[in-house]
Amino acid sequence: MVNCPYLSDPSRVALFAGAVGGLRRFREAGWRLIVVSNQSGLARGYFTREQLSAVTDRLAELLAAGGVVLDAIYYCPHGPDDGCDCRKPRLGMIEAACRDFAIDLAKSWMVGDKAADLELAQNAHLHAAQFLPKKDSQLLPGAEFAVRSMTELVSRILG
Ligand SMILES: [Zn+2]
Repeated sequence: MVNCPYLSDPSRVALFAGAVGGLRRFREAGWRLIVVSNQSGLARGYFTREQLSAVTDRLAELLAAGGVVLDAIYYCPHGPDDGCDCRKPRLGMIEAACRDFAIDLAKSWMVGDKAADLELAQNAHLHAAQFLPKKDSQLLPGAEFAVRSMTELVSRILG
């Protein structure tokens, strides 16, 4: 998904080139696809749960058009100062996923573009790859490697 901070308009949901094809490869290889997302825009009042669900519905629709179904989307609705246990890099959303699915964390991968994603991977003992589409960004602590595209991610993880 293209990163749009505080996205609340479903018509602006857009996928990275190659995203659907890459996710389909993981699916075909038997992987689960689970999204964990900080959505502090809810706590900040930037958008409502209804708007967020319209955005996630649109995401699911774009993926489904390419034959990809996500297992689950977890989001943290809190702000940074709320002291919740689900906001990345805290473990709540990973723990929820582990309750809902049989997941072997040691064989699972977190793919993210933010420090909180990679810190969460370290906290949960997940493998971690950094999505780094721009050439001038830096490899963040916790990432085993960076990829610039979904194609590269597929080849690094699935071989
Ligand atoms: Zn939370």
